[in-house]
Amino acid sequence: MDCVFCKIASGEIPSTKVYEDDVCVAFKDLEPQAPVHVLLIPRTHIASAADITPENSAIVAHIFEVAAKIAKEQGLEGWRIVSNVGKDGGQTVMHLHFHLLGGRSMAWPPG
Ligand code: AMP
Ligand code: ZN
Repeated sequence: MDCVFCKIASGEIPSTKVYEDDVCVAFKDLEPQAPVHVLLIPRTHIASAADITPENSAIVAHIFEVAAKIAKEQGLEGWRIVSNVGKDGGQTVMHLHFHLLGGRSMAWPPG
Protein backbone atom coordinates (compact mmCIF):
# COMPACT_ATOMS: atom_id res chain seq x y z
CA MET A 1 0.00 0.00 0.00
CA ASP A 2 1.30 3.46 -0.88
CA CYS A 3 1.04 4.89 2.62
CA VAL A 4 3.77 7.14 4.01
CA PHE A 5 3.15 6.11 7.64
CA CYS A 6 3.16 2.38 6.78
CA LYS A 7 6.55 3.07 5.17
CA ILE A 8 7.77 4.90 8.28
CA ALA A 9 6.60 1.97 10.44
CA SER A 10 8.50 -0.50 8.25
CA GLY A 11 11.59 1.72 8.06
CA GLU A 12 11.30 2.18 4.28
CA ILE A 13 11.06 5.96 4.86
CA PRO A 14 13.37 7.46 7.51
CA SER A 15 12.03 9.19 10.59
CA THR A 16 13.31 10.33 13.96
CA LYS A 17 11.82 7.64 16.15
CA VAL A 18 11.39 8.29 19.84
CA TYR A 19 9.74 4.94 20.68
CA GLU A 20 8.72 1.72 18.96
CA ASP A 21 7.36 -1.69 19.86
CA ASP A 22 5.41 -4.48 18.15
CA VAL A 23 2.20 -2.44 18.08
CA CYS A 24 3.13 1.19 17.49
CA VAL A 25 5.80 3.66 16.46
CA ALA A 26 6.34 7.22 17.71
CA PHE A 27 8.42 9.70 15.74
CA LYS A 28 9.01 13.43 15.47
CA ASP A 29 6.69 15.41 13.20
CA LEU A 30 8.51 16.92 10.19
CA GLU A 31 6.78 20.27 10.75
CA PRO A 32 6.61 20.65 14.52
CA GLN A 33 3.80 22.83 15.86
CA ALA A 34 5.18 22.86 19.41
CA PRO A 35 8.59 22.27 21.07
CA VAL A 36 7.52 18.63 21.49
CA HIS A 37 5.52 17.28 18.55
CA VAL A 38 5.50 13.51 18.28
CA LEU A 39 3.26 11.39 16.06
CA LEU A 40 2.10 8.01 17.37
CA ILE A 41 0.92 5.46 14.83
CA PRO A 42 -0.20 1.84 14.86
CA ARG A 43 2.04 -0.48 12.83
CA THR A 44 -1.07 -1.90 11.23
CA HIS A 45 -2.85 0.30 8.68
CA ILE A 46 -6.00 1.90 10.11
CA ALA A 47 -7.19 4.83 8.00
CA SER A 48 -8.41 7.13 10.77
CA ALA A 49 -10.12 7.32 14.16
CA ALA A 50 -13.38 6.78 12.26
CA ASP A 51 -12.18 3.19 11.67
CA ILE A 52 -11.64 2.26 15.32
CA THR A 53 -13.66 -0.86 16.14
CA PRO A 54 -14.01 -3.35 19.01
CA GLU A 55 -11.44 -5.49 17.12
CA ASN A 56 -8.68 -2.86 16.98
CA SER A 57 -9.41 -0.51 19.90
CA ALA A 58 -6.85 -2.21 22.16
CA ILE A 59 -4.19 -0.77 19.83
CA VAL A 60 -5.49 2.72 20.58
CA ALA A 61 -5.46 2.08 24.33
CA HIS A 62 -1.85 0.94 24.01
CA ILE A 63 -0.93 4.06 22.01
CA PHE A 64 -2.38 6.25 24.78
CA GLU A 65 -0.28 4.39 27.35
CA VAL A 66 2.81 5.04 25.22
CA ALA A 67 1.86 8.71 24.81
CA ALA A 68 1.67 9.15 28.58
CA LYS A 69 5.08 7.49 28.94
CA ILE A 70 6.66 9.74 26.28
CA ALA A 71 5.11 12.89 27.81
CA LYS A 72 6.54 11.92 31.19
CA GLU A 73 9.97 11.20 29.70
CA GLN A 74 9.94 14.58 27.96
CA GLY A 75 9.11 16.26 31.27
CA LEU A 76 5.95 17.89 29.96
CA GLU A 77 3.88 19.79 32.53
CA GLY A 78 0.78 19.52 30.39
CA TRP A 79 0.19 18.31 26.89
CA ARG A 80 -2.38 17.71 24.20
CA ILE A 81 -3.19 14.64 22.15
CA VAL A 82 -5.05 15.20 18.89
CA SER A 83 -6.26 13.03 16.05
CA ASN A 84 -7.53 14.84 12.98
CA VAL A 85 -10.23 12.88 11.15
CA GLY A 86 -11.22 13.39 7.52
CA LYS A 87 -11.35 16.54 5.44
CA ASP A 88 -13.06 18.86 7.92
CA GLY A 89 -10.92 17.45 10.72
CA GLY A 90 -7.78 18.50 8.84
CA GLN A 91 -6.42 14.98 8.25
CA THR A 92 -3.75 14.94 5.54
CA VAL A 93 -2.22 11.48 6.04
CA MET A 94 -4.78 8.68 5.85
CA HIS A 95 -3.13 6.39 8.42
CA LEU A 96 -4.39 6.79 11.99
CA HIS A 97 -2.07 8.98 14.02
CA PHE A 98 -2.14 10.90 17.26
CA HIS A 99 -0.28 14.18 17.62
CA LEU A 100 1.36 14.55 21.03
CA LEU A 101 2.01 18.26 21.53
CA GLY A 102 3.69 19.96 24.44
CA GLY A 103 6.35 22.31 25.70
CA ARG A 104 4.23 25.43 25.32
CA SER A 105 0.84 26.58 26.51
CA MET A 106 -2.02 25.46 24.23
CA ALA A 107 -4.92 27.60 23.09
CA TRP A 108 -8.54 26.51 23.39
CA PRO A 109 -10.70 26.32 21.35
CA PRO A 110 -8.49 25.00 18.54
CA GLY A 111 -8.72 26.66 15.14
P1 AMP B 1 -2.61 15.35 9.85
O1 AMP B 1 -2.70 16.68 9.17
O2 AMP B 1 -3.31 15.30 11.17
O3 AMP B 1 -2.99 14.23 8.93
O4 AMP B 1 -1.09 15.20 10.26
C1 AMP B 1 -0.12 14.69 9.40
C2 AMP B 1 1.19 15.11 10.01
O5 AMP B 1 2.20 14.28 9.46
C3 AMP B 1 1.60 16.55 9.73
O6 AMP B 1 1.79 17.23 10.97
C4 AMP B 1 2.90 16.42 8.94
O7 AMP B 1 3.85 17.41 9.28
C5 AMP B 1 3.38 15.04 9.34
N1 AMP B 1 4.19 14.32 8.39
C6 AMP B 1 3.92 14.06 7.08
N2 AMP B 1 4.90 13.33 6.52
C7 AMP B 1 5.80 13.11 7.51
C8 AMP B 1 7.05 12.41 7.57
N3 AMP B 1 7.55 11.79 6.50
N4 AMP B 1 7.71 12.40 8.75
C9 AMP B 1 7.22 13.04 9.83
N5 AMP B 1 6.05 13.71 9.84
C10 AMP B 1 5.37 13.74 8.70
ZN1 ZN C 1 -0.66 3.08 6.41
